[in-house]
This record gives sequence, structure tokens and C-alpha cells, in this order.
Amino acid sequence: MKFTEEFRDANRVKQLAKELQQVAKHPWVIMEICGGQTHSFMHYGIDQLLPEFIELVHGPGCPVCVTPLEMIDKSIALASDPGFILTSFGDMLRVPGSNKDLFTVRANGGNVKVVYSPLDAVQIARNNPDKQVVFFAIGFETTAPANAMSVIQAAALGITNFSLLVSQVRVPQAIEAILSSPLNRVQGFLAAGHVCAVMGYWEYPPIASRFKVPIAVTGFEPVDLLTGLVDCVRMLEGKEYSVFNSYSRAVTKPGNAAAQNIINKVFQPVDRNWRGIGNIPMSGLSLKPVYANYDAEKKFSLDHIQTKESEICISGQILQGNQKPYDCPAFGTLCTPENPLGAPMVSNEGACSAYYRYRKISTI
Ligand code: SF4
Repeated sequence: MKFTEEFRDANRVKQLAKELQQVAKHPWVIMEICGGQTHSFMHYGIDQLLPEFIELVHGPGCPVCVTPLEMIDKSIALASDPGFILTSFGDMLRVPGSNKDLFTVRANGGNVKVVYSPLDAVQIARNNPDKQVVFFAIGFETTAPANAMSVIQAAALGITNFSLLVSQVRVPQAIEAILSSPLNRVQGFLAAGHVCAVMGYWEYPPIASRFKVPIAVTGFEPVDLLTGLVDCVRMLEGKEYSVFNSYSRAVTKPGNAAAQNIINKVFQPVDRNWRGIGNIPMSGLSLKPVYANYDAEKKFSLDHIQTKESEICISGQILQGNQKPYDCPAFGTLCTPENPLGAPMVSNEGACSAYYRYRKISTI
């Protein structure tokens, strides 16, 4: 397929791996922001082509993984109420809450519907006027435009039984939080190409120069990943602390203006908790006051939720690049995709799931 196969070309991959060997002279720790990139690295074995002294660490760009436990428990409380239909993307259903997950709620009769778009949830609300329909609006800047559009559409149609349970997060503030941590080891970043396709990369140069880290905007296919790595290492070796667009077939510096406009119309920046990491100032989005009627947390009484996090799971350390899945004592033993203790083991973008699927080595 054009625009896919040529970016998986084995000869081009070998060439780039050789180029990386030539460019890299010093040990570097590089973080790929997005969990989709982590899975691609491991799925295609790209991580095994790198010089030994180049270490990849895995970033917080797994929306399912960083959605706070409190929000999972709130979704479970709504789904357990017979007056509600909880709609969600499918990957949230296996994520463990304090006591159970949404799959269990559904198996016990809770009304949980998997949708492929928040606009489907608006239609469900239209078809079920006697129920409150809530869409679990999680994710980074990539999901925010469609979530914003669902609110605009519901308002235009006069639908009042639709709302969002919002847990939207933003990448630049997460990068700043990682770099500000005293434990930080990351020296360069591969930025997530799909987020930059929406938001552009105009927010990144001040971060690169302030923290003295190069950032390469990187796609997801093997050729994209190696191209981003070569560009990032070249900048590191040259002490060039700027942003390079290694994914120019999809990303421009200003990004998608229409998508950004709709995000800005409906959402506003707020402080947000990240699961396992904690509060990151201005790292989230919430609905503007004018759309408060579409905000499930404001419409319904959800403040009584008590959360209980696993005492074993070290996902927060993994999501900040401080530890790897193999460092977790539960990896592959107490925690597996069938019996997950933390979200990174169930999410298709989770680092623990990538290690389990592609490099299954038990710690015991
Ligand atoms: S292996 Fe499981 S318990 Fe350990 S960090 Fe990953 S998700 Fe958490």
C-alpha cells in the first residue's frame, strides 16, 4: 500500500540503522513519547538494531494508561446506574479501576456500549431520550477535536441527555514535567507525529531550548522511527537543541488550524492528574463554562468516589522513563494481559503490554 509499504522497506531500514551507527558516538537516553511508537519499535524489532549505548525509554503517550483511576471509577459508577448508558472506545473496558473494570460492569448488566466515534454516542443519546448518555472522553490532542465536535453537534441538535466524562491531556506540558523532574534521564525526544499533525510543533522549540533537549517529530512506521532517531541523535551529537520535523509528509509547524479552532472553542486548559504521575499544571483540557451542561462531572454527583491504587504497579515510573516494565516485580507473573494490575498491561499503547507481547521475559 502506498504510504505504508515503502516505510517498512527492509533495505531502507538497514540503511538507516547503518547511518545511526555512524552518527552515534556517545551514549544517549531518548524517549519516544507515544505508546504507539513503543509498540512499533518492539513489533518490528527496531530497538534491536540500535547501537547498544543508545537507550530508548518509553513515554507517557498512552492515553488509557494516564487516565486517572478516579476517572475510571467515575465511569464505572455511571455505567452501574440503570439510568445511564456509558459509551467508550473499546480499549478502556479492560482498564482496572479500584475494584473492577467496565467489562465486569457490562457482564453484570451495566449499560456499557463501545463506540468508534463520540458522534456515535450523540446518536445513541438521540435514540434513547429516557437515558443519560455519557461518552468517556479520554486522550491527547488527537481525540480532542472529535470530542469537541460531539458537544457542538449535541448542542446544535438540542440534545440534553448527552455529556462527556472528560480526561483530555496535552503533550507539551507532560514533556516539561518529565524534564523538570530531579529523576529525569531523558536527553532527547521523539515527538508523536499524530499529535503534531493536529497541533503542529510550534509549542516545542521553547521547550527544546529551555531544557537543552533536541526533539524530532517522528512517525510510526519502521523507516519513520529510524529517521526520527537518526535526526535526534545527530542533534544530540551536534549539541543542537531544537526541533526537527522528521515526519514532514504528515506534519507542518502550524498544524491543523481547523482542528485547533474547534478544540479552543469547546475546551480550556486546566491542571490535570495523570495516573501514576500526579498533577501536571495546565496539562489537561476541560469543557468551557458555556458547555457545562455537557460536562458529566458537573451534571452528576460523582464526588463520593474513593479510589484504591495497586500498591505493586510502578506504571508512573515507567511512563516517565525512570524504569522499564522488566523492573516491575509483577510483570508477567501477577500482572498479565488476562489479569492486569495496571493500565499499561492492557492498553494497545502500553509499554508493559508491548514488552509482554514482543519480549516476554518473566522477572522470576
Ligand atoms: S507490569 Fe503491570 S503492575 Fe507492573 S507496571 Fe506494568 S501494568 Fe503495572
